[in-house]
Amino acid sequence: MERLSGDYYLYPGATDRALREYRAFLRPTGRRPLYPRVAQCSCRGCSFDDVRHARDVLDQVLRQLPPRPRAELVRRVRPLDAVYLERTLPDPFARQRQYRADLWWRRRLASGAEGG
Ligand SMILES: [Zn+2]
Repeated sequence: MERLSGDYYLYPGATDRALREYRAFLRPTGRRPLYPRVAQCSCRGCSFDDVRHARDVLDQVLRQLPPRPRAELVRRVRPLDAVYLERTLPDPFARQRQYRADLWWRRRLASGAEGG
């Protein structure tokens, strides 16, 4: 699927990288909230510095996979989503300032300009 995708961000290995970056973001233990960070460069490697990009990639993959592998990936992503929701804070102004605020994982407070 990665190979057939015409999307610049969906290259062979991108799903694996996205899963690893998502897990790495959620790894710090403790109760302190986590804040996604804007990537400094928009190339397909550096974009993964922003965990929200990793989740975007997983979203794209999930939309395009056939049912069986999709179900398999959903089983891996769902527990991470639960932790993400637990460890990040809602952004009450997401509609005004977050890119693609229609995506739930982008309606969370990020670090940087928003004071996170
Ligand atoms: Zn780059």
